[in-house]
This record gives sequence, structure tokens and C-alpha cells, in this order.
Amino acid sequence: MKKQILALTMAAMMIGSLTACAGSGKGDETTAAASNGGAAGAVLTMATNAEFPPYEYHDNNAIVGIDVEIAEALAEKLGMTLEIEDIAFDSIIPEIDSGKADIGLAGMTVNEDRLKNVDFSDPYTTASQVIIVKDESDITGPDDLEGKSIGVQLGTTGDIYASDYEETGSTIERYSKGFEAVQAMMQGKIDAVVIDLEPAKVFVEENEGIKILDEALTVEEYAIAVKKGNTELLDKINTALSELKESGELQKIIDKYISAE
Ligand code: GLN
Repeated sequence: MKKQILALTMAAMMIGSLTACAGSGKGDETTAAASNGGAAGAVLTMATNAEFPPYEYHDNNAIVGIDVEIAEALAEKLGMTLEIEDIAFDSIIPEIDSGKADIGLAGMTVNEDRLKNVDFSDPYTTASQVIIVKDESDITGPDDLEGKSIGVQLGTTGDIYASDYEETGSTIERYSKGFEAVQAMMQGKIDAVVIDLEPAKVFVEENEGIKILDEALTVEEYAIAVKKGNTELLDKINTALSELKESGELQKIIDKYISAE
């Protein structure tokens, strides 16, 4: 009888730790694992949208990139196991807000609007929006976007920037992936794409007949999103992040994916 109870307890424990490691929406299990003294290994769930090279993208079956490596390094410092949830970009903040994901790392720019719903860590890099056009395009800078059709990724800072042109008669086409916007432009469906510089570089490198215009449209900072008011996690992340900055590890990760010009 005793043995049976023990077996049952063990089975329950195994199921418990399996749930703690599997799938998505582990907000509660994470807390449970942590309060167990982390014996099962607490899970740090990262919400991202793996359509944003070189920050996060699919490489065969794996999700790789700068943000993934930063998150792995942070999780290691926090003694946690990283799990990645690949979801739509505009679902990342709701996912953190609801507690289903612990952190959002998605080349995500800090802005006032997002700060109403999540807290952000210290920035880990700077970025900008740029315009991609076909080589033969007559669009040479932001003023030429007036009245044109502009493709963006839905809910991004590129979307916000381009939307200002609607009052000049421009139409904004919003895609769920940045690359879909680039493809639509290559097919002649739209005139230009507004997107972050580093993914723009990847898309232009991998495709013939398109180019990035020189003028940067914005100055932005990427940071890690956490649930509003979760200062405990935010402090840990900021401490770990500053260690990664000081040790040079952060720069090493960035340099692995972005070659200096
Ligand atoms: N930096 C942009 C933003 O925060 C784009 C991010 C992305 O598409 N992953 O909106």
C-alpha cells in the first residue's frame, strides 16, 4: 500500500514536471516551479515572432537569432530554462499582460503606447525604420511616400510611422510578416516597405532587384518586455543584462549575426 502511494506520488510529480516543461501558457507552472525551490527548473517563457531576421527567425526546425541568444544567456544567469513561444507580433504584449509569457523579445521598440501595457528592461540595442523599394523605383526618400502604397508588418513601429502618410492619400497594407510585405512589393502590388533596418538588410541581401534607401526614418531602442509591475523579474533581467553588456557577451552575440560595416 505504501509503495503504491509512493508510486502515485512519483507519477504525479513526473506529470507535474512534464507540464512545467511542455508547450505554452505556463505562467502558473513557472511560479509553482520557482516556489518549489526551482527543483524542477523554473521556466522562463519568451514570447516572440520568429519572422524578424537576424533577431529571431526559423533555421530549419529551430528558432535562432540575436534575441534568442540574449534570452538564453539571461535564462542561464537566472538559473531558468528558456522556452520560446512563436506567436503573432501583435499578440506578444497581450501574452505578457495575461501572464502566459514571462518576457517579450522580438526586436521590440520601446514606445509610449506599449509602456501603458508592459514594462521594458534597459535597452539592449538601437534601431531605425528604413524604406525598401525596387531598384528602379522613383521613390528616393520619405517625402516620396506621399500618395503611395506602403507595406508594413502589422502593429510595428513601421506601421505607426507609415500610418502618418494616410492623410497624404497613401494606402497602408499591413502584413502579418515583414517578408510578405517585401514579396508584395517585388510582385508590384505595393510601392515601398517600411521596416526595421537589420531585417531590411537581410531581405535585400537575399532578394534581387530591391534596395534600402539611405535615409533612416526613426531612432528606436529595442528592449525586453515584462508584465507591468513585475519589478522582481525586471530587476533580475536588468542586472543580468548589464552583466552581459559589461562582459562583452552581448556585443559578441550581436556581432555573430550583424557584420560591422
Ligand atoms: N521594432 C519594430 C517594433 O517594435 C518591429 C519589431 C518586429 O517586427 N518584430 O514594432
